Amino acid sequence: MDLGIKGKTALVCAASKGLGKGCALALAREGVNVVITARGKEALEATAEEIRKATGARVTTVAGDITTEEGRKAALAACPGVDILVNNAGGPPPGDFRNWSREDWIKAVDANMLTPIELIKATIDGMIAKKFGRVINITSGAVKMPIPELGLSNGARTGLTGFVAGLARQVAQHNVTINGLLPGPFDTDRLRGNMEFNAKKLGTTAAELAKQRAGANPSKRFGTIDEFGATCAFLASVHAGYITGQNVLMDGGAFPGTF
Ligand code: NAP
Repeated sequence: MDLGIKGKTALVCAASKGLGKGCALALAREGVNVVITARGKEALEATAEEIRKATGARVTTVAGDITTEEGRKAALAACPGVDILVNNAGGPPPGDFRNWSREDWIKAVDANMLTPIELIKATIDGMIAKKFGRVINITSGAVKMPIPELGLSNGARTGLTGFVAGLARQVAQHNVTINGLLPGPFDTDRLRGNMEFNAKKLGTTAAELAKQRAGANPSKRFGTIDEFGATCAFLASVHAGYITGQNVLMDGGAFPGTF
């Protein structure tokens, strides 16, 4: 299927690795010019080169922390007239809420709620003027089914989800859509880090725990970043203009509800 987005410009935040990288690759395969960000310059440049070689697309890099004003300014300056915005950032650390300070909460809300809102604020009027815009917020399956040790993530991401649920309905008439893409367990560095944390608590190894967790998923495996990216690209496509304000769960069937 031709997704109809060749020549458009996408800002894909936090994309040197993992899910963001999967989204950038999938969009680049569709002929989208992608601007990718991450804090670490070396991995970012390596990923950009990999995407260029694989797709022939134009890939621009902006090294910086997307959760800071400076980082966002630099990213936005690299892509005036952005058509597709993929919001992403590292997730907050796991832990026990008794140990989290007000500062920890503010950091989580800043990264996983206010940063995407700031980026939407900076880009949405341009999208409305062009009568085309796609915003995909990478959140988490935790929005639907909270993960006990990831309370900071559960809270901050649900705040973002509530906000965009209202905004999506205000901009839909302009062919601007906003959707959440909710990852369950995907095989990335982040997932491996969480396995290390939980394995220590349970007195097992990360490899053993990963085997158990993958086996407990109805699909008997973790998701891949290519699968995640392909869904992101479809949500960004011209064909997805009537899908908005939704939260698309990709978890291999782990959420046990009928809906
Ligand atoms: P990952 O493999 O660790 O990759 C994270 C990417 O984001 C890296 O490129 C990293 O590069 C970049 N990044 C992190 N913080 C950043 C910041 N402040 N500014 C700019 N770039 C930043 O993580 P992932 O698994 O793809 O996860 C992506 C998001 O999905 C996270 O919020 C995670 O919590 C959420 N999630 C993941 C899963 C899963 O199973 N993987 C499940 C649910 C939710 P630098 O470190 O160099 O900046």
